[in-house]
Amino acid sequence: MYWAKRKVNIKNPAEIEIMREAGRINATVHAAVREMLKPGVTTADLNTIAEEVLKKHDAISPFKNYPGPYPFPASITVCINEELVHGIPSNKRKLKEGDIVSIDCGTFFGGFVADSAFSAGVGKLSKEAQKLVDVTEGALMAGIEKMRPGNKTGDVSAAIQKHVESRGFYLTREYTGHGVGRKMHEAPQVPNYGTAGHGLLLRPGVTIALEPMVLVGTAQTKVLADQWTVISADRSLTAHHEHTIAVTEGKPLILTVL
Ligand code: MG
Ligand code: MG
Repeated sequence: MYWAKRKVNIKNPAEIEIMREAGRINATVHAAVREMLKPGVTTADLNTIAEEVLKKHDAISPFKNYPGPYPFPASITVCINEELVHGIPSNKRKLKEGDIVSIDCGTFFGGFVADSAFSAGVGKLSKEAQKLVDVTEGALMAGIEKMRPGNKTGDVSAAIQKHVESRGFYLTREYTGHGVGRKMHEAPQVPNYGTAGHGLLLRPGVTIALEPMVLVGTAQTKVLADQWTVISADRSLTAHHEHTIAVTEGKPLILTVL
């Protein structure tokens, strides 16, 4: 990935304040979409509500037309059950009771990007599905906890890996967390596995989107014929949580909350 080799862009406090605003808008999109997670709603309906919220805040999604096999056609990605990332919203796909739905959204506002994702159930989840969602969210929080000056990105990666693998689940090696700022993907690359004490030294002004992508049965993934949607190779359940976080002098600052 070309962006992973570039230099890390340190943000000043004024820039972080703009990213915080982008993050608030992103969280507002998430809240509106979460409200819609009911049986019979289509994944295209979720994209429509997301676009309405973005427009209301004079923001756009960096996902729309993102370069790939062909430009990404929507403002959010929607993934159901075995779909891990990059699912394309469709008016033919309806949510069902018990589905795990993973929503990823970016907000481009004031020249900066905020990026976050969550997984949640449609109605009540099975015990295993709920555990998967909880472990994925827990892994994100375990990673965020390590985002302090003096730590390295390897400390963050190792904390995520330990949280997930000690609970019997798997992490993809093919997709990673990343720096974020004026562009959605900046250096450094932050994998969901790694060795404590290695990697980039964290310092105030580093902004990273951490995003554990967790699978029940395998670390292997494959891409569907639509050339975007990534699924678990064994079609086992998956979940994905993401926040954009700024390293500060003190506690890590989560930018993508209300
Ligand atoms: Mg994302
Ligand atoms: Mg991301």
